[in-house]
Amino acid sequence: MAHHPILIVGGGAAGITVAAQLRRARPSLEVTILEPSGEHYYQPGWTLVGGGVFSLEETRRAERDLIPSGVHWIQAGVAGFDPDHNSVTTTAGDTLSYDVLIVAIGLKLCWDKIQGLTDALGQGGVCSNYSKDFAPYTWEAIQAFKGGNAVFTCAPMPIKCPGAPQKIAYLADDVFKKKRLNAKVIYATATPGIFGIPTYAAPLREVVARKGIDARYNHVLTAVRADRKEAVFSVTEGEATREEVIPYDLLHVTPPMAAPDVVATSPLANGAGFVEVDQYNLQHVRYPNVFSLGDVSGMPNSKTAAAVRGQAPVVVANLLAHLDGLPLEAAYDGYSCCPLITGYGKTIMAEFNYKAEPTPSFPLDPTKERWSMWFVKRKILPALYWNRMLAGAQHERRFIPGVKR
Ligand SMILES: Cc1cc2nc3c(=O)[nH]c(=O)nc-3n(C[C@H](O)[C@H](O)[C@H](O)COP(=O)(O)OP(=O)(O)OC[C@H]3O[C@@H](n4cnc5c(N)ncnc54)[C@H](O)[C@@H]3O)c2cc1C
Repeated sequence: MAHHPILIVGGGAAGITVAAQLRRARPSLEVTILEPSGEHYYQPGWTLVGGGVFSLEETRRAERDLIPSGVHWIQAGVAGFDPDHNSVTTTAGDTLSYDVLIVAIGLKLCWDKIQGLTDALGQGGVCSNYSKDFAPYTWEAIQAFKGGNAVFTCAPMPIKCPGAPQKIAYLADDVFKKKRLNAKVIYATATPGIFGIPTYAAPLREVVARKGIDARYNHVLTAVRADRKEAVFSVTEGEATREEVIPYDLLHVTPPMAAPDVVATSPLANGAGFVEVDQYNLQHVRYPNVFSLGDVSGMPNSKTAAAVRGQAPVVVANLLAHLDGLPLEAAYDGYSCCPLITGYGKTIMAEFNYKAEPTPSFPLDPTKERWSMWFVKRKILPALYWNRMLAGAQHERRFIPGVKR
């Protein structure tokens, strides 16, 4: 059995960031990443792929170019966790032991939970920015749309980037208005309101009203009848539930999401299937040598790459403290950021924490739609992701919200 002192499973936004920060913080550490994919995507860019601003190619890099120098990469997936014996099994059939494990394998997209969706996707106007395979088709479908109902759905929480389902609705609406199409834009969401953070929900309600978008709440997509171009929803009204059928000419779907089975069925899972870590120190509540961050971790934060920026320095500081036998002092405050694109050239930079308090990075009213924040979303954040975040540039303790500076 091969031994890897620090084993990170998942080499996405969270896995690469934490590996790079660990190497910067303590270069003598032996760090290994277990990641099956040869490609790495900047998923926050997929909203702009669907909106015709980025090509898919611009969001892709070779995984090998992102593995931090000195970090060992095993190109395989994790197939099982055995935290009682400090080991994992891989899809290649190997067993690897570790001193410390970091779980960062992201979310599972549950397309098959919506009847008829898998067959419908990618044709007949049915698209989704949530997959690299279908985000380019979103832009094709928006361009091909000639009028009628354009329906945008949002699945029950938790999903990654809870703002993304509505951002594409606003971009599409801009295109339809510019072309003077006779379009009815419907935003049908499983959530009871437009956004979970009240400070940002208020301006978003104004955006919806100004654009004349038909927002329908407590609407859970259950089936797509592609032959009749109908989307079927289960709608909750108080105690009652009814079925609603909405005809569509364009349908953008946000699939339900869940923890990957390999985590959900493991001893690491909480009741919802995610990795059961303390929401502040990010250490597993039953296995002290296990940490988790990113979408697969069980904290009640909004799941974004921006949240990873807040979590990674906390994992690094507490992992090193754990190795050194010191108390775990670093605390994650729930930071997340959702750049809420409200049209081409307009973005509300929604930053907030566990307490739903605004935590703006800029000395500006964060509730306003701004061109400058569109510029940040389009130009600055991708550069920050590739060149600074994945390079581990924010590992210092001063980036940890819960630690006194
Ligand atoms: C359309 C869209 C828009 C978004 N917009 C934004 C935004 O504007 N701002 C923002 O901050 N975030 C946004 N996000 C969310 C952001 O991309 C995720 O929150 C972020 O990528 C989470 O990082 P992660 O490492 O946890 O998961 P991922 O980046 O998904 O990485 C998970 C990694 O685990 C690997 N893996 C999977 N299974 C296994 C296995 N069995 N064994 C080993 N490895 C495995 C995968 O190959 C992958 O490399 C958006 C996402 C989407 C899809």
